[in-house]
Amino acid sequence: MTQLERKLQWRYNMIPLKEKFWRYANKKSKDECWIWSGHLRGKGYGHINHKHKNLSAHRVSWTIHNESIPEGKLILHKCDNPACVNPNHLYIGTYGDNNMDRENRNPGTSGVPSTIGPEATQKIIDLYSSGKYRQTELSMIYNLSRAQISRICTKKQGQRTIERGY
Ligand SMILES: [Zn+2]
Repeated sequence: MTQLERKLQWRYNMIPLKEKFWRYANKKSKDECWIWSGHLRGKGYGHINHKHKNLSAHRVSWTIHNESIPEGKLILHKCDNPACVNPNHLYIGTYGDNNMDRENRNPGTSGVPSTIGPEATQKIIDLYSSGKYRQTELSMIYNLSRAQISRICTKKQGQRTIERGY
């Protein structure tokens, strides 16, 4: 890295997160989608680089317009448009008590990537089979690759087949 590049990077890191957000947020009316004009990743989710961290633009939008995101909570799209950062199109998702109960009754599954525990695996399976979350969203929430998420979700289907066989 040249001295100039270092200097530019340093300056970029000094820009407040809010300012970076509004640079790319493409604000429109509160009913329209605000399509992220910055960097997109995965299935088209906006991303912001901030202080050496890669942040999801729609999650940043939530923290700017609402409050900080409680640990383990999900920010989801009502409009089904991953690149949208309109706070009116976002909602906070919870796992719910039912899932917690099921998790306690059925702890752990084998053959799961070592990066997440059995509890998280069960949550992913529950969320995916609820039909409300796509694999892309789950991979972002849990910071796993699409392949890992797909393996977890497919495994669930395999288990179902076995259960049906009895
Ligand atoms: Zn939208």
